[in-house]
Amino acid sequence: MGTIVCQTCNSTIGHFEDEKVTTLYGKCTECVHEEMDDNE
Ligand SMILES: [Zn+2]
Repeated sequence: MGTIVCQTCNSTIGHFEDEKVTTLYGKCTECVHEEMDDNE
């Protein structure tokens, strides 16, 4: 099973089907909003 982890706050965003254990990094909705706020 694969896991998607937020690269900013390390919280688990979700899971996806995979033959092996895999970790993908992304951003959760909160961290996406924070980054947008920083740019303004
Ligand atoms: Zn996050």
